[in-house]
Amino acid sequence: MVEHFFQCPHCWEEISMLLDPSIAYQVYVEDCEVCCNPIELYPRFDNNELVSFEVLNLDQ
Ligand SMILES: [Zn+2]
Repeated sequence: MVEHFFQCPHCWEEISMLLDPSIAYQVYVEDCEVCCNPIELYPRFDNNELVSFEVLNLDQ
């Protein structure tokens, strides 16, 4: 697993989550550990390297 840091789209705090680099396309829904709002995450891996990471604010 790799730890990835990103900004919460709700509170703009930097948070981290653990990602599995063996799965190329993933969708996660996580609650921000700071403000507890839901965030949808789209990490994309290629050869175990994180090549893109999109964050969606589920409240929008
Ligand atoms: Zn937050």
